[in-house]
Amino acid sequence: MADTTVTMDKIVSLAKRRGFVFQSSEIYGGLSGAWDYGPQGIELKNRIARFWWKEMTQLHDNIVGIDAAILMHPRVWEASGHVENFTDPLVDCKKCKTRFRADQIPPENLAARKCPECGGELTETRKFNLMFKTTLGPVEDESGLVYLRPETAQGIYVNFKNVQQSNRMKIPFGIAQIGKAFRNEIVTKNFIFRTCEFEQMEMQFFVKPGTDEEWFEYWRDQRWNYYRKLGIDMNKLRWHRHGPDELAHYAKDAYDIEFEFPMGFKELEGVHNRSNYDLSRHQQYSGKDLQYIDQDNGNERYIPFIIETSAGLTRQLLMLLCDAYEEQKVADKGNEDDWRTVLHFHPDVAPITAAVLPLMKKDGLAELAQDIRAELKEDFVTDYDQAGAIGRRYRRQDEIGTPFCVTIDYQSKEDGTVTVRDRDTMLQERVSRSHLSEYIRAKIKSYKRAERIS
Ligand code: ATP
Repeated sequence: MADTTVTMDKIVSLAKRRGFVFQSSEIYGGLSGAWDYGPQGIELKNRIARFWWKEMTQLHDNIVGIDAAILMHPRVWEASGHVENFTDPLVDCKKCKTRFRADQIPPENLAARKCPECGGELTETRKFNLMFKTTLGPVEDESGLVYLRPETAQGIYVNFKNVQQSNRMKIPFGIAQIGKAFRNEIVTKNFIFRTCEFEQMEMQFFVKPGTDEEWFEYWRDQRWNYYRKLGIDMNKLRWHRHGPDELAHYAKDAYDIEFEFPMGFKELEGVHNRSNYDLSRHQQYSGKDLQYIDQDNGNERYIPFIIETSAGLTRQLLMLLCDAYEEQKVADKGNEDDWRTVLHFHPDVAPITAAVLPLMKKDGLAELAQDIRAELKEDFVTDYDQAGAIGRRYRRQDEIGTPFCVTIDYQSKEDGTVTVRDRDTMLQERVSRSHLSEYIRAKIKSYKRAERIS
C-alpha cells in the first residue's frame, strides 16, 4: 500500500517538476526566503488574485481598489509603529549557529538557554526589526533612508482621504489592494509559507465607531465563505482568536483563519478590528485632518474604525497546492500507470483551463486540434500537447490540475464532435465543437467539490 500522505517534500517536488515554483537564483545555489514562479505558478497566482479581487471589489458595491507604491515616506513607518514594534525576538546557538525566533522554541529551552537542535548554549534574546532598509538617492546615508513595505495596509491608510474624496465614498466603505511586501524573516522554512518577499491581498474597511463589532462579524463570515467558494476542504480550516497576550497593541479584537498545512494548522489570513489606531496615528504624524465628515448626519466628524482582512497571496497558493494534491489509485494492472497525481483546483483558478490533445498527429487530426485550440483560446487559457501516448498526456494535465482535456479523434473529423475528459471523475463526454466553449463555461459555473463543501 503506497503512502499517499501529502507532505511538503511532495509539494515542493511537484511544484518544481511541473513549473509552479522554483528556488530563486537556483543555479547560484539559491537565495533563502525568495522563490520564483514558473509558467504554471504565475497563472495560478494571477488567477487567485483575480478570484480574490472579484470577490472583494466586483461583488461589493462599496469597495474600490488601489495600487500604492512599495516605497513610502519613512514617517509612515514611524506612525504605524513598525519602526518601534515590528520586531521578532531572536536567539542564536553559539555552537551550531542556528538562528531561532525565541517565541518559536520550547519555553523550557529558552529558560535554560539550551539549543533545541544540538543542546548548545543560546545567546541572550535580542530584538530584531523585520523591515528591509534601502536608500533613495545617490548618497547612502540616513537622510535617504526608506523601507521596503512590510505590509500593503499602510498604502491604503495614507490614501484614505484621496480615495474617499475622489470617488465620493460614503462610510462604510473599503479599499482593496494586492501587492508585494517584504520582511527580513529570521526563519524561512516550509517552502513558500514564510518568505522574505511575498504578496498580500488586503482589504481595509472603514466604519463608524460603534458599528465596528457588527462589521467585524460580517467580515469574518465573508472571509470564511470565500474559502468555501474556492472549493477548499472546510475541515482543514479553523478559526483562531488572539488571546490578550497575542493581540497587537492597536487591535481591539483579532481572529486568524488557519489552514491545516502538512506541518500543522498555520495562519492563512487575519481578520482584525484595528480600532481607530491607524488613522489617528497618521493624523497625528502627518498633521493632516483625517476625520470623515458625515454629510448625511449633520456633518458629524469622526476618525473611522478599520476592519482589516489580510491574506497572503503566495501563502494561499501554497494552501491550494496542499489542498488540491492527491495521489490516486486509478487502475490495478500492477504497474506505475495504476497511480496518478492530480491537483483538484477549482477550475476558476486552475493555471490551464483546457488542454487540446489530438489522438494522433497524422491524418489531419493535429491540424483540426490546432483549429479547435485557436477557437478556445479566445475564452480560456489553453495548452496543446501531441507528444506521446494519450494516457500519459492526461496524467501530465492532471499533475498541473487542468480541469478539461479536449481530445480530437477520427470521429471528430466526421461529425464535428470532440471528447471532453473531466479531471476529477475522468469521465468523457462527446460534445459538439460548436458548443465547446459554452459547455466548458457551464461546467465551470456549476463546479462544486461536492464532497468537500461542508
Ligand atoms: P507571523 O506572526 O506568522 O509572522 P503575522 O501575523 O505578522 O505573521 P500578518 O502581518 O497578519 O502576519 O500578515 C497577514 C498575512 O500575510 C498572513 O496571514 C500571511 O498570509 C501573509 N504573510 C505574512 N508574513 C508572510 C511571510 N513572511 N511570507 C508569506 N506570507 C506572509
